[in-house]
Amino acid sequence: KPIIQLRNVTFQYDETQALNDISFQVQEGDFLALLGPNGSGKSTLLKLILGLLKPTKGEIELFGEPIQAFKQHEWIGYVSQKSNSFNSGFPATVEEVVKSGLTKKVGLFKRYPKNVDQLVIEALQAVGMESFATRNIGQLSGGQQQRVFIARALIAEPKLLILDEPTVGIDHENVQSFYDMLVKLNEERQITMILVTHDVDIVSEHISHVACLNKTIHFHGYKNEFDDISE
Ligand code: ADP
Ligand code: ADP
Repeated sequence: KPIIQLRNVTFQYDETQALNDISFQVQEGDFLALLGPNGSGKSTLLKLILGLLKPTKGEIELFGEPIQAFKQHEWIGYVSQKSNSFNSGFPATVEEVVKSGLTKKVGLFKRYPKNVDQLVIEALQAVGMESFATRNIGQLSGGQQQRVFIARALIAEPKLLILDEPTVGIDHENVQSFYDMLVKLNEERQITMILVTHDVDIVSEHISHVACLNKTIHFHGYKNEFDDISE
């Protein structure tokens, strides 16, 4: 069954219709690239899936249940575009940042698990950042910070990871290895991925599905179908 299902979803801000009659689904294990020009409704779509906005019309289901049934989105990890805008004055170590990702879960369990240090290390290993555990996050490069924020999401064991333009702060030569890391998380941990990106050239090798948004979904399908239409 689909992990996300949108049926005829419309979203209207006061003045602007951001999404018009969108229907699509995401299956468990998909690696979906969400493409579209600025203002096409990508962030709005993510906020609907995260439950931060409610559709004006239409329905959203997560894991086969109406989205209203989800109070805390504990199955969804989210790294927003602003996560990596820390300046060098940010006073937290990498391990503190990753540990803070447990807050959502702690809210459910009322206390931290006993093996929290081990969980932090495992999350950092998954993104190749274990040797940076005690460093100050503000001193890392954009790409390293982005990996730490992904570790912060991973520590809560999400089934779905939503990334909003994750490579914006990453040097061009490191973008490929960043995507290799995401593909590994997708394949080895079965984490479904949705990412908003402009890196069409790089990402097209890695993704299983693409959705092109321009207020409505113009195209949604498998990557090889996308290769065909782009010729
Ligand atoms: P994208 O992420 O693709 O750039 P957005 O979802 O941010 O697109 O925006 C879609 C449309 O909705 C744009 O026209 C934008 O100006 C408008 N919009 C976004 N957020 C708001 C808001 N909080 N209030 C009013 N209009 C908004
Ligand atoms: P905007 O683009 O409107 O400024 P962002 O996309 O940066 O907002 O983030 C919206 C808010 O959602 C942030 O305050 C972020 O902390 C919060 N948020 C982060 N992760 C989740 C999640 N898994 N579920 C719900 N909300 C989240």
